[in-house]
Amino acid sequence: MKVTRVETFLAPPRWLFCRVETDEGHVGWGEPVVEGRAHTVRAAVNELAELLIGADPLRIEDHWQVMTKGGFYRGGPVFASAVAGLDQALWDIAGKARGAPVHELLGGPVRDHVRAYAWIGGDEPREIREQAQRQAEAGFSAVKMNASGRMSPLAGPSEIHAVVERVATAREVLGPDRDVAVDFHGRVSYPNARRLLPLLEPLTPLFVEEPVVPESMAQMRSLVEASSVPIALGERLYSRWDFMPALQAGIAVVQPDLSHAGGISEVRRIAAQAEVFGALLAPHCPLGPIALAASLQVVFATPNFLIQEQSIGLHYNGGNELLDYLVDPAVFAMSDGRFTRPTGPGLGITVDEAKVREVDRAGHTWRSPIWRYPDQSFAEW
Ligand SMILES: [Mg+2]
Repeated sequence: MKVTRVETFLAPPRWLFCRVETDEGHVGWGEPVVEGRAHTVRAAVNELAELLIGADPLRIEDHWQVMTKGGFYRGGPVFASAVAGLDQALWDIAGKARGAPVHELLGGPVRDHVRAYAWIGGDEPREIREQAQRQAEAGFSAVKMNASGRMSPLAGPSEIHAVVERVATAREVLGPDRDVAVDFHGRVSYPNARRLLPLLEPLTPLFVEEPVVPESMAQMRSLVEASSVPIALGERLYSRWDFMPALQAGIAVVQPDLSHAGGISEVRRIAAQAEVFGALLAPHCPLGPIALAASLQVVFATPNFLIQEQSIGLHYNGGNELLDYLVDPAVFAMSDGRFTRPTGPGLGITVDEAKVREVDRAGHTWRSPIWRYPDQSFAEW
């Protein structure tokens, strides 16, 4: 079998899909995207495609090595996301060629269903009580929320109190048998995070995510030691090498994104690396249907798994939902906030190719918001 064609498609609200075709009729789909940089990643995919055309798609590991390391310059979100999408497509082809779901090729299922959480509150958190109530009624056993909107670098009592109150509201609605995870989104500074973690500790959050921006890894150990709250991060880390200092600092949860961290091949290895440190896998996935399908294939075969993110109804997805791009959205049907095991070959989904080709004609230009403080200086989003 040989790869004959690689195509990319811009899919609103903010995604990029790739389609890898072979001379034996098997087609694989992937989702290589950095949110806000879809066109940049598309260019990287087109360059990497030169390495795949004419090659055997089943030599996935060799392709991963060459695509990741063969350009001499390596690392970072753009390259690792381009590799990630192509890697997903190659695994999709491998599963389809063998008539098996990818998780069966990864050693078989280690669980019967996958727990997922829903987002509440949006970017500038509001309606916490109503939205937590709604997701609990929808059957979710866990929600995740931003703790704040933009936050002063050294916050005063009212800003600090407001963060704690928002989480306390969610906890009050959810009770002791459901979980609330808190995303600091890198927008909470180091001194604010040091102050907040002990104050959140009595509310028993499932974890606090990205307590500071990922480049502040040197401060991570002190944040781990600031309280008993488990620290999670990893959506902006792209390889085992990136995760090593975080794990050495004692984080509890790794959150690689299947579309950013080198795909199924590398996230599988990051999970194994985390297991050595007693850390759990919770794949980041505010993305589209192919990234979610790839996430599920990995976590069904991963022993040290905690919980799966998913973007159905997420505040970024105005107008288009991940279910819009599937021939049969029932593969992602949830009950009690849990996904059931996909049984179809490859990634277990059938992409609505006609729809994808149609939306690509208009494309999209989604960009991350730029936030500023009242004095107009830059604020982390
Ligand atoms: Mg996050």
